[in-house]
Amino acid sequence: MDLRHTEADEDFRRELRTWLDANLPQEMRENAFWADKTDAEQFAVRREWEQGKAKAGFAGIAWPTEYGGRGGTPTMKAIYDEEMAKANAPRTVNPLGLAFLAPTVMVLGTEKQKQEIIKPLLHCETIWCQGFSETGAGSDLAALQMRAEDQGDHYLLNGQKIWTTNAMHGDKIFTLARTSSPEGGTKHAGISMLLVDMKQPGIEARPLKQMTGESEFGEVFYTDALCPKEDILGGEGNGWATAMLLLSFERGSSAIGQYTEFRQQWSDVVEIAQQVERDGRTAAEDPVIRQQLAAALVDLECLKYHSWHVLTQTSQGKDLGFEASMTKMMWSETFRRVSDAYEDVLGTGFQVANPQPGLSVEELTTMAMWSRSCTIWGGSQQVQRTIVAERVLGLPR
Ligand SMILES: Cc1cc2nc3c(=O)[nH]c(=O)nc-3n(C[C@H](O)[C@H](O)[C@H](O)COP(=O)(O)OP(=O)(O)OC[C@H]3O[C@@H](n4cnc5c(N)ncnc54)[C@H](O)[C@@H]3O)c2cc1C
Repeated sequence: MDLRHTEADEDFRRELRTWLDANLPQEMRENAFWADKTDAEQFAVRREWEQGKAKAGFAGIAWPTEYGGRGGTPTMKAIYDEEMAKANAPRTVNPLGLAFLAPTVMVLGTEKQKQEIIKPLLHCETIWCQGFSETGAGSDLAALQMRAEDQGDHYLLNGQKIWTTNAMHGDKIFTLARTSSPEGGTKHAGISMLLVDMKQPGIEARPLKQMTGESEFGEVFYTDALCPKEDILGGEGNGWATAMLLLSFERGSSAIGQYTEFRQQWSDVVEIAQQVERDGRTAAEDPVIRQQLAAALVDLECLKYHSWHVLTQTSQGKDLGFEASMTKMMWSETFRRVSDAYEDVLGTGFQVANPQPGLSVEELTTMAMWSRSCTIWGGSQQVQRTIVAERVLGLPR
């Protein structure tokens, strides 16, 4: 594991910090700025800011310059994640496209797909959704039912997807559908990954309300929706392999950005614990809470070193493969631990907006609620554990 940065890495950090100082107003770093805006208003502000950042050259940090990236190293990408988290910069509006679709297109896409997909995605001209999950196909993804009927030069799609992040904002969706019947009884066969235009009459998106109050995800209904045949990614019938590659990107990259964000949240929880009274003393003096906070901090430090290990591997060009599941497990469980400590500091009162006079905890409450979803999306913890047991450790079934 290499813990040093090169001079070029540190130059990049300085350049990014200077740009953020000049282009990310203090008010946008504060929760209050976002609090009175609707989902749609927040999305529009974040999109515009991200577009400006891409124009300034701070997008696709480790991607090739010929596709609009910066041509940097995995370490620069980790520095970018760290600095964005430290600055409390707006979250990307295009997470599915940036983190999952683009790396997959880079490996499996045709030259035309690379040219048409990657740069517009970096500049948030096209917002991408992921259409994998269905009501009867989540962990058991190969049980999916969405049908794509061959019509010569295009497919006709019918079915429904659910839990689709950015459903209400998406321009396009990478969708898993059955282009032929499963052969020989294996349900993983006959699936293709289609790149579908969401701005067509055959597609309807409906929001789903989450416990944070947001509608970050929704349902997408396909009724005779069209997809030209050239918009297959990875070849007809190869959807399962394409999806597995994509999911390894979803689960895998270094978690330095997450570490930085959760470490700040841990400090905020400690601050709250020092203010909340219980049994004649502060929560921070309660031995059980102290143990919880200490355990969360230990997990955080393990996450940091794991992230450095992953970064060292990717910097040396090594393929993470199924080990990607370990990163997903580690960061999402660490996040849960920090959130659980917060919930215990406030007790059941954590669920209400103003649990105690003088306490400003709205952001931490949203964090605690959001953390519940992180051990589900991208493949649940139980499923990740099975992957690590079977594919990384080689344990018997
Ligand atoms: C915030 C959020 C955003 C999401 N965004 C998207 C998106 O953009 N696109 C998309 O396609 N999907 C998205 N999802 C869906 C996500 O991928 C699924 O929720 C996830 O794969 C789990 O599927 P499920 O919800 O159907 O649960 P189920 O598969 O029904 O699982 C229910 C429980 O059973 C357990 N379980 C299931 N099978 C096994 C097994 N074999 N062994 C042990 N335990 C098992 C699970 O771990 C879980 O605890 C999102 C989900 C969330 C929460």
